[in-house]
Amino acid sequence: MPMQSVFLQDTLKILKRAVEIGGFDEVVYDYLSRPMRVVAVSIPVKVNGSVKLFEGYRVQHNNALGPFKGGIRFHPEVTLEDDIALATLMTLKNSLAGIPYGGGKGAVRVDPKALKPSELEELSRAYVRAIYMAIGPEVDIPAPDVGTNPQIMAWMVDEYSKITGRNVPAVFTAKPIELWGNPVREYATGFGVVVMAREAWSSLFNGNLSGVRVSVHGFGNTGQWAAYWASKMGAKVVAVADTSGTVYDPNGIDVGKAMEIKNKTGKVINYPGGQRLAPDDALYVNADVLMPSAIENTIRADNVSKVKAKLIVEGANGPTTPEAEEYLTKRGVVIVPDILANAGGVIMSYLEWVENLQWMTWSEEETRSRLENILIGNFKRVLDEYGKIKREGVTMRDAAIVLAVSRVEKAMRLRGWI
Ligand code: GLU
Repeated sequence: MPMQSVFLQDTLKILKRAVEIGGFDEVVYDYLSRPMRVVAVSIPVKVNGSVKLFEGYRVQHNNALGPFKGGIRFHPEVTLEDDIALATLMTLKNSLAGIPYGGGKGAVRVDPKALKPSELEELSRAYVRAIYMAIGPEVDIPAPDVGTNPQIMAWMVDEYSKITGRNVPAVFTAKPIELWGNPVREYATGFGVVVMAREAWSSLFNGNLSGVRVSVHGFGNTGQWAAYWASKMGAKVVAVADTSGTVYDPNGIDVGKAMEIKNKTGKVINYPGGQRLAPDDALYVNADVLMPSAIENTIRADNVSKVKAKLIVEGANGPTTPEAEEYLTKRGVVIVPDILANAGGVIMSYLEWVENLQWMTWSEEETRSRLENILIGNFKRVLDEYGKIKREGVTMRDAAIVLAVSRVEKAMRLRGWI
């Protein structure tokens, strides 16, 4: 047996805990603690004139509720086991959101920043050639994740369409607007994170976001748009951070400027004002709300005591380890868990897929209001369940996973799997 990644171990730990809290049969844990199918491929790409083989996967975790659905990650350190953990979270996220999808996730072990655009295009196309027989609009629908973006989706949907000999818009989501995408998808994840922060702040801390200090750790697609919407909804964004460092300004950061600098120079640290701190300092600054929006295992046993926020809204998947969460819960800190907090992205993907299947589009306003309604409904259901379980040490994550598991469990029972 290979060593399990910490991320996979932690994911199984929180799943097991929720299965016990919810009183589900052991067979439900058996199903959800392993993926239904794993496609592992080797992807040849010419880099600087000579062929390099990249390791790629598509993990199809569970499809009791519908086609597998989840992003594709391009990251130099991603492992198959991390990908399994991410796919597991997608099954839970999609179930919780009430959308007709199972969970999946793809990954390629590569540093996309080290490739030329033509090499990145070739890698994206070659990945699709390697996995195309396992995906499809009614089978498995990928989207972006860390290290991938709408341009990559455009290459992928084109490659898939070429292979199958017809236009197939609904096989990938988060595509560019000109290629069957929807304008809301670009900012949907960050928007959802802030909607969750707003809902949680008003129900648990009795206030609106006006003047509330927010720190955003991670400044990719999720972090940038979370900061943008936080500031648009009246909060004061006091810190933003990427791997280059943290920009901290207790008087508030001009988020539009920070996004412009990040997209021009690649580093948020080039922002002209505020103080410059170490990358992880965004986790520890004086803020009311923290939005960890980078990757997994960010808030851990060894650094959790430095976190000062009262509310944590997880933009990333798996940013808080179970040990860190236990510590924070004892301190009265509330965590809006990833499968609830960052579901805006995949819910928007669902809306795009519905548009694509019908070859139609909604306006940006119409789409955003549909998205926001689904998000608010999700939050209310989790809060309600959280209130119902209310036992010492039980978290909002436990409540969210109990709800998510119960929907998958019902579907598996109806299908006769259990
Ligand atoms: N990668 C995103 C996530 O982790 C979105 C997936 C999707 O839109 O399918 O939820």
